[in-house]
Amino acid sequence: MEQRYFQKEIETMPVEEMKKLQSEKLVKQVKHVYDNVPYYRDLMDKKGVKPEDIHGIEDLHLLPFLTKADLRDAYPYGLLAKPLSECVRIQSTSGTTGRRVVAFYTQNDVNLWEDCCARAIVAAGGTNEDVCQVAYGYGLFTGGPGLNGGSHKVGCLTLPMSSGNTERQIQFMNDLSATILCCTPSYAAYIGESLKEQGYKPEDIPLKAGIFGAEPWTEEMRHSIEATLGIKAYDIYGLTETSGPGVSFECCEQTGMHINEDHFLAEIINPDTGEVLPEGTKGELVFTSLDKEAFPLLRYRTRDICVLSRKKCSCGRTLIKMAKPMGRTDDMLIIRGVNVFPSQIETVLLNEGYAPNYQIVVDRVNNTDTFEVNVEMDAEQFTDKLSDILAMEKSLAEAIKTMLGINPKVHLVAPKTIVRSEGKAVRVIDKRKLI
Ligand code: ADP
Ligand code: ZN
Repeated sequence: MEQRYFQKEIETMPVEEMKKLQSEKLVKQVKHVYDNVPYYRDLMDKKGVKPEDIHGIEDLHLLPFLTKADLRDAYPYGLLAKPLSECVRIQSTSGTTGRRVVAFYTQNDVNLWEDCCARAIVAAGGTNEDVCQVAYGYGLFTGGPGLNGGSHKVGCLTLPMSSGNTERQIQFMNDLSATILCCTPSYAAYIGESLKEQGYKPEDIPLKAGIFGAEPWTEEMRHSIEATLGIKAYDIYGLTETSGPGVSFECCEQTGMHINEDHFLAEIINPDTGEVLPEGTKGELVFTSLDKEAFPLLRYRTRDICVLSRKKCSCGRTLIKMAKPMGRTDDMLIIRGVNVFPSQIETVLLNEGYAPNYQIVVDRVNNTDTFEVNVEMDAEQFTDKLSDILAMEKSLAEAIKTMLGINPKVHLVAPKTIVRSEGKAVRVIDKRKLI
């Protein structure tokens, strides 16, 4: 059955009503945290804020921030707000940027999280007629369990593939006519590459949509995946600390992700000063969980850099939108004093006709940063004529220099020499950090 929204009354709620709902929830949530989480109570006491000072979302800025360092400090149980007897699930971050942290869920937390993922699937055109292939990892990683639960809620026939075993992914996708694929964008690109090698054309592939997230990916990468798989590719965002995927999701307009703001209150701050920035300004995204019972983080600093917008959306949803995060503050490399996000390099590569198979290697030699980009040629680009390779490397280095203002050393490498990712891709090797 055609369905436009999973929870219409929330997804299209007038903004003023939503703010009222958020205010009511915030007041209760602050009290819940203050009463049950000594770690956060201490932070509030130090800042001289009491739950009675919080009357609504206009008072949010009074509350202290939480950071990943706090989560590591309080590991494992220090931020738990419910007795373990009421918790039914533990998930863990991927550990992309350091020691993993764990998050806890009550049954109600799992339920609301799955609702968020269901909203994302419906926004991507999913219905109970669809076969939804979930190729995010299952287990501690939130990708598999989150989309699995959302897919059930929508009533899709769910294929819990988990990540890896690409041959089997392709076989089941075809045998069972999967219509929606959920995985990381780098794994979607890898599946697409494998299908192409097996002679599949986009029109032979049963998929109609993909829901890809858990790592930054560029518009260029979106176009490339859409063309290879013959689908519409939707972004989905989330983090374990707030639940998992489904904190925000893309609709048919594909111009940013609607935040499920009935559950997650978003702010953008200046990452250096902590000052709250007005809508439309780029900065660090901060979330307050309004409904989480077991692990209710208030003003959690995600370190993800993006912009919020309340511009009217053609899909009819009134939920605020966030732009594609361009990376995290800690993904940002500073090379010879210049700020570099891997996503900028990805944009150049795809614009120059290369596949998104690359790795950035940064080191420091004689007190100067070295900056190398290894880029894979595909079978058509591949040549063993040295002068051709040198010319291609030079032209790519110039394109990257135009984007960033600093000169990389580009190495073109033979097809299939850069490791493919079945989960989150590792794009950067920063040897300076190993010293
Ligand atoms: P880890 O922080 O160890 O990677 P998670 O698996 O919880 O643990 O990942 C959450 C992080 O993944 C987010 O903070 C964000 O940096 C990144 N992320 C998730 N979805 C997206 C997306 N759609 N676009 C860009 N980055 C994303
Ligand atoms: Zn929309």
